[in-house]
Amino acid sequence: MTKYFIDLVYLAASFLFILGLKGLSSPEKARRGILYAEVGMFLAVVGTLLHKDIISYEWILAGMLLGSAIGVPMALFMPMTAMPQRIALSHAFGALAAALVGVAKYYHYAPNIPPYIMAALAFEVLFGALTFTGSLMAFGKLQELITGIPIVYKGQNVMNISLFGIAAVIGIYLVMNPANSVLFVTLFVISLVLGVLFILPIGGADMPTVISLLNSYAGLAGAATGFVLHNNVLIIAGALDGTSGFLLSVIMCKAMNRSFANVIFGAFGQVAAPTPEAAVKQQATVRSGSPADAAKIFKDAKSVIVVPGYGMAVAQAQHVVRELAELMEKNGTTVKYAIHPVAGRMPGHMNVLLAEANVPYDQLLDMDDINPEFEHTDVSLVIGANDVVNPAAKTDPSSPIYGMPILDVEKSKTVIVLKRSMNPGFAGIDNALFIQPNTLMVFGDAKGTLSKISEEIKKL
Ligand code: NDP
Repeated sequence: MTKYFIDLVYLAASFLFILGLKGLSSPEKARRGILYAEVGMFLAVVGTLLHKDIISYEWILAGMLLGSAIGVPMALFMPMTAMPQRIALSHAFGALAAALVGVAKYYHYAPNIPPYIMAALAFEVLFGALTFTGSLMAFGKLQELITGIPIVYKGQNVMNISLFGIAAVIGIYLVMNPANSVLFVTLFVISLVLGVLFILPIGGADMPTVISLLNSYAGLAGAATGFVLHNNVLIIAGALDGTSGFLLSVIMCKAMNRSFANVIFGAFGQVAAPTPEAAVKQQATVRSGSPADAAKIFKDAKSVIVVPGYGMAVAQAQHVVRELAELMEKNGTTVKYAIHPVAGRMPGHMNVLLAEANVPYDQLLDMDDINPEFEHTDVSLVIGANDVVNPAAKTDPSSPIYGMPILDVEKSKTVIVLKRSMNPGFAGIDNALFIQPNTLMVFGDAKGTLSKISEEIKKL
């Protein structure tokens, strides 16, 4: 009887997970989606706690308290800009849990392990351990505890792929000879090492894409754990996590016009700094102005498109942006926001920040919808965005971002760019937008500059 009840609870939980994912496909429904997923997770936990195989609740309670003691402060105190590394840590913990369940179950079943269970165990340990160390490395790179510069050496890819091949062969051998515990431990150790080696050549800036891929691995390890434990909700949740994480990585690669192989093996982020001569030349042609100059332009504008980027997140300027937009709207100006799919450092980064500042969802337009509007727009206000508005992606075949779809801001009558210096963005390349005759650079921290622009508009 309890078994049927648990299965029913698991079914409801799985349904809610799917509704949760569906909700996340639009900013408007994202909060509701998260709520569905939370209720789903609560049901999954309750269902599991009713399982007849549980002999004592003490250790479970201790684990829940320890997990909450780590998770609650992380959720409360880690800033939005640190979200990618926070997610990396969560994947590390999830993957470690899957790998440890695999180790415990191996010794529980050994030496007579049915082939399908051994196959799931090997998969779970390989992907769980690899994702654990890989996610810790990703966390370290993003938190700048270790260098974000790709660490490359000769024969690296061949070595990594060979080591993965050896791990796979050990896994297959274990399916036929599960009693060989030395090989099982070897598989575990190789997998831990692989996680470190795979992440070494990947630049810090590519970490969000890699984290999404590691998310997918953690999900697959979780699904394998579900097969080992005969737990249906774990199989379903793991499969959902595995596929959605993989699809997200593919979408991110597409939006950057990069191949999957280029992200994983390309050591992107080693771009050389511009020569001093080039920097001087670029500086000489820049037209810069004060917040007061920008305020005058906004006062006369009938239409403004705000283009947020990573710098808006760094400056935490989302609230002052909304205040400025409201001021302009009172003045009769139409304000819209252009959202590039990879603006910032994680998918949906700009949507989350602008939603936090209560910017109406209907003002947020995706790249394909907003691009035709730039040529009819008076002012594009670029806030800490760089690569996603770099025309080189359309005009310079030698550029590392050539082919990446970008926002056509240069087509608007005037472009006002807020950033602190002429430094490049994530891709490490110059941006010809900044030296266009219709561009006005207003240097400074975006939050401070936006506040000053609002003050100046009020004075006009
Ligand atoms: P960029 O990284 O290209 O540029 C950000 C700009 O913000 C910098 O040029 C910087 O200039 C400026 N900035 C930083 N701090 C501040 C501040 N306090 N005030 C004002 N400006 C500031 O950002 P984009 O959003 O344009 O592009 C995102 C890049 O990240 C793309 O190349 C994308 O491919 C990549 N990426 C995105 C992922 C995603 O999922 N969103 C995942 C992986 C990579 P300065 O220092 O002069 O102030």
